[in-house]
Amino acid sequence: MSLLNLIYKKREGQELESEEIRDWVNSLGTKGSPPDYQNASLLAFIYAKGMSDREVSDLTLHMRDSGKKLNFKGFSKDLVVMDKHSTGGVGDKISLPLAPIVVAACERALIPMIAGRGLGHTGGTVDKLESIPGFQMPKTEAQFYKHLKKDRMVFAGQTKDIAPADKVLYALRDVTGTVPSIALITASILSKKLSESLHYLLLDVKFGSGAFMIAYEEAVRLAKSMQRVCKLQKVKSCVFLTNMSTPLGEWSGHRAEILESLEVLKGQGPSDTRILTLEFAKSMASAGGVATAELEKKVLEAVSSGRAFDVFKSVVEAQGGSLLKLEKIMKSSKLKKTVLKVSRAGFLNWNVREVGMALLELGGGRKTLTDKIDFDVCFKKLVNSGQRVQKAQPVLEIYHRDRGLEACLRRLKAAASISESGSVEPLIRQKIEEGI
Ligand code: URA
Repeated sequence: MSLLNLIYKKREGQELESEEIRDWVNSLGTKGSPPDYQNASLLAFIYAKGMSDREVSDLTLHMRDSGKKLNFKGFSKDLVVMDKHSTGGVGDKISLPLAPIVVAACERALIPMIAGRGLGHTGGTVDKLESIPGFQMPKTEAQFYKHLKKDRMVFAGQTKDIAPADKVLYALRDVTGTVPSIALITASILSKKLSESLHYLLLDVKFGSGAFMIAYEEAVRLAKSMQRVCKLQKVKSCVFLTNMSTPLGEWSGHRAEILESLEVLKGQGPSDTRILTLEFAKSMASAGGVATAELEKKVLEAVSSGRAFDVFKSVVEAQGGSLLKLEKIMKSSKLKKTVLKVSRAGFLNWNVREVGMALLELGGGRKTLTDKIDFDVCFKKLVNSGQRVQKAQPVLEIYHRDRGLEACLRRLKAAASISESGSVEPLIRQKIEEGI
């Protein structure tokens, strides 16, 4: 296949036809694929000239259709298939307590949560779950549907069958400087999420120093682009634009984040994590048919009754994991503790991306695809961005082994800057509901 015609059209800012996009996407990863330099050229012109909503929607669908879609044959027709996607950050463990709370609060919710691994400075839900001793992602479709039927939710990882065209395109974007294109990010994220045959998608689009989109305006552009495609595809969506200028929750690090999620499931845990989880849970339960007047009560009851905790435990055990063993490991772990203190008084401002990178230096994330993660190393955040601090005040505890401490401290010292003024920004800046 020659891409020259599409390249010329995009270079001149023209729209590509649905069939042209389809033929290109279908060729990716096959023997008939255009050479990478042509694929890269087209990506670069898409990056520079953008795409119309219709083009982004077509690209999304053809990428989705390059793989398999979930099929809920044998499930009740009354169920509302829903999921959540976060653009990621540091300490973002919301998916873990969220799905069980929604299942416990809303009897029509069905959550086939297909999550990702850590990317750059951000942690991944799949890696966090795999830090639970014994926990395994479903290995076959039969296992996936069996778990989903049993608990009305399942945690699963991306497989090669889901939107394989995205894998080819993402790898090319990664090495051609074309990742930060709103059109390409939208198609990449939604091609995978729409493979879940969703009725409802909650999008947590983050902004701030630890977010994929640092500027709020860029996060809004991405959020609106994703919502327009959802609407064209008749998937109801809700976007929350949330602040990632402070690591979320107290703890960052795989096993520590699981323990913090358990706290949230028990009605405890840090307030930012609890608030986001409960707000998201209310939106999802509402999409599942819970009346507005009942939402708060149902979601709080799901937690206070212990049912949400039981759902999480049941899901983890069904997938081979043991929370008891996890707690034992954490109690007996031989980590060393080092405290990060600020050098002067003022207002703290975290560069959250650098905090995430500092955890990677300890082994708490992957620098290369084949790196083995140290699930135990973690940070406990003591102070949020925008809060006043005194000279030599501890702002973060580091739980570590010998590996990488020096590099980690170097990054953290740079990450914790002090300014003359500051204020704590709201956690949720905007919520945008979109019907179909
Ligand atoms: N996450 C994705 O899955 N794709 C992108 O392009 C960016 C973030």
